[in-house]
Parts: sequence; C-alpha cells; structure tokens
Amino acid sequence: MGYALDSLLIHGGKDGDETTGAVCVPIYQTSTYRQQELGINTGWEYSRTGNPTRAALEKLIAELEGGAFGLAFASGLAAIHTVLSLFAAGDKIVLSDNIYGGTFRLLDTVLKPLGIVFEIVDTTDLDKVEAALDEESKAVYIETPANPLLSVTDIAAIAKIVKEKQKLLIVDNTFLTPYLQRPLAFGADIVIHSGTKYLGGHSDTIAGLVVATDPDLAKRLYYLQNAIGGILAPWDSFLIIRGIKTLAVRMERHVQNAQRIAKWLLDSGYVENVYYPGLKSDPGYEIQKKQADGPGGMISFVLSQEYDYRIFFRSLNLITLAESLGGVESLVCHPASMTHASIPAKIRQEVGIVDELIRLSVGIESVDDLIGDLKQAIEASRK
Ligand SMILES: *Cc1c(COP(=O)(O)O)cnc(C)c1O
Repeated sequence: MGYALDSLLIHGGKDGDETTGAVCVPIYQTSTYRQQELGINTGWEYSRTGNPTRAALEKLIAELEGGAFGLAFASGLAAIHTVLSLFAAGDKIVLSDNIYGGTFRLLDTVLKPLGIVFEIVDTTDLDKVEAALDEESKAVYIETPANPLLSVTDIAAIAKIVKEKQKLLIVDNTFLTPYLQRPLAFGADIVIHSGTKYLGGHSDTIAGLVVATDPDLAKRLYYLQNAIGGILAPWDSFLIIRGIKTLAVRMERHVQNAQRIAKWLLDSGYVENVYYPGLKSDPGYEIQKKQADGPGGMISFVLSQEYDYRIFFRSLNLITLAESLGGVESLVCHPASMTHASIPAKIRQEVGIVDELIRLSVGIESVDDLIGDLKQAIEASRK
C-alpha cells in the first residue's frame, strides 16, 4: 500500500475481515483447521505454524518497518531467543554495552553455556566495533537509543562496517518503534521489538516481534519460530494490532512530554545528569536527529547528592514505580536493582548504570502533573 505511515498504522497488514466485513481483524481462537482431504487445506494447518490473527499482525509490523517479513512471539525475549538461534556453538555476537538486561542474561546464562560467544563493545565507537568483528563474529546486536543510558548508535555507519564484513546487523527498535525510527532503511538485517512496550502501549500484553527483508533469512527465522514454538497467541496478537492503531498520537505525546520534562530536569538544579537524546547537550543528539523522527519518551537521570533516590521513589504519587516502559502511564524504575540487575555490578558501574540512576518512561498524562509529581518527590527526598 502506498499510504503514509500514519495510515498504515490503522489500515496496514490485513485490514479487517473479508468474510464478514468486520472492521477489526477477528481473534481466530483455534488451534487447528479442518482439512478437506489428505494434502488439501485452506492454507492454515496448525496455529503454532500459522494463525490468521497473528499473521495480520506479522504483515502489519513488516509493512511498518519497511521489511518483507514479520514474525510475532510470546514476548520480546522469545523473539530475541529465536533470532539468536540463528547462531551455533563457536559463533560470536558483538553486543552493545548498553543493552536490555534480559538480553544480556539470555546470552550470558543460556546461550554462552551452549557455546555461543559474545563480546561487549561500546557501539557508539565505530573503531571498537570494527576491531571486535573477527572471523568468528556472525552479528552485531544493538539498541539505539540504548537501555538505560539512552546512548545513540549510528545505525547506517555500523551497517556499513557489518556489510563489508558480511555479518548481520540486528537492531532492537523497542524504544522508538517504526513510528520514529526504521532501522532496515539504514541497512539493518533484522529488527526486533518488545511489543510489550510502545506497540501494545497500554501495559496489558507481553509480546515480541521480528522483521527481516532477505527472503533466505526470513525463511530461516520462520522455520525457527515454528520449530521453537514461542509464538504470540491470537488474543494477544489482536491487542497489539489494536495498540498499533493509536501509535502515532501516543508517540507524539510521549515525545512532547519527554522533551518538556528533560528540559525541566536539566534546568531544575536537582540533577547531576540527564540522559535524553532530544537535548541539544546530549552526545547522541545529532545522530539521533539524522536517523530518527523524534527522540522518544525515555529519560534517565541521576539526582544530585543532596537527594536520596530511595526516598524519591517512595514519594512519587502519580508516577508508578514498576518495571517496563512505553505504556500510556508514566513508569519509573531503578535500573541497578530492577531491569539491569542481571548485569554484574562491575559491568554496570563500568558502563555508567550507577546505583543513583533513575529511568523514567514518560507517559501521556498532563505534563504539568508529571513535573509536579517529580518536583514534590525530589523535594521530599532532600537529605
Ligand atoms: C522489555 C524489553 C525487551 C524484552 O521484552 P519482553 O517483552 O519483556 O520479553 C527487550 N528489549 C528491550 C529494549 C526491552 O525494553
């Protein structure tokens, strides 16, 4: 379809239901499909292999990312596990040093014992990426902006290095969604999402998505999806399709609120550091502007010494202390003990995930109410 992204969010993939005219894709809550006779079926055989509701979502995410093939999984980590199952013992993955804690845990405690090797690299430094890519390396795996320090990696520059060496570039695009950033256009081979976050958007579903363009790669991923079996259920596929319909308006507001809050924090005198690629002072600002249509809704910050972050967390009223991000409601978390607790303390310190770091997923509430809540909680935490 030759429509703008805003229209594709609502009408992309498989729009509605041909049989009844229902404007929403029905929830095909079935495990199997009647076969007319031996070897003849409707194209649907068994719902792990294929389900019409899931297929509608898979087609939709592929269109939104500008890819050819989409796959939906029971969680972001199920999606990541399936993608990393492309690799075998002896293969090396070059991993961004700012990465979702669960991705690190999967590689470190599940895949490393099976012989998959990984090397952690600051992917904002292109020379380091180039140096890490040896014979055994099969892929570079990045998030940008990355979790939780919002550091920005130049996707096109990394893709160029990766292509020259004939490796794969895998990008976790959870933080920006295809509404703000489409990594395949910059040369990524595989895009991954935790659909749990902005795509679902309402903190009510766990889901994962994968998009690829190369048909051989897609075929292999589809094979792995069916062989491993971590597929997304029909009801959850429906919820993610529904979430995506409002992605444009939600992301606009997330960005608008985050811009206001990041500027307020910076000028407030309350903080030692604010990490947000939408600030001109942020080291990732220029690259972010080049490759994305907005800096997203995630902010991290470190309170000044005069404030006790533990008291800050318990003094918040409107903003909820919880894992996760990307929902309509603002959530705050403590990466060192929550999302990134599975990363060893030494590595955490090295990459800047200090104990005082606070991560804020800016929701779409009134920005004045959000700033008011932050202000009163910081004031209450004065030592
Ligand atoms: C949450 C998250 C994941 C994992 O997704 P789940 O849906 O929780 O399994 C992966 N990457 C990023 C960037 C995330 O925020």
